Amino acid sequence: MAAEEAARRGGAQVYAIHLKLGQLSGVVKDALMFSYEVACQGTTLEGSQLIIEEIPVVVFCPKCNAETSLASLQRFCCGTCGALTSEIVQGKELEVVALEIQ
Ligand SMILES: [Zn+2]
Repeated sequence: MAAEEAARRGGAQVYAIHLKLGQLSGVVKDALMFSYEVACQGTTLEGSQLIIEEIPVVVFCPKCNAETSLASLQRFCCGTCGALTSEIVQGKELEVVALEIQ
């Protein structure tokens, strides 16, 4: 995807890719870094850097009527009052936010 983006810009050398990775995206950061390197070999992205910003999970608590961070990934509870909640505000992200081109 990012390689196509680079190709559209006239085959410019991509220096770095910034990625947002939510803790609930189902993707492990280290595994992603490794597969990125392998996937980039022989493409315009070879030698580019993958910069991952990890996004913590934030849920909406109907009791507090506010957004709070999740106490634990195993328990979907409000970090303030402990009420169960399933309304995920953020944390599922897996998206490219920026490309740095030389
Ligand atoms: Zn709460």
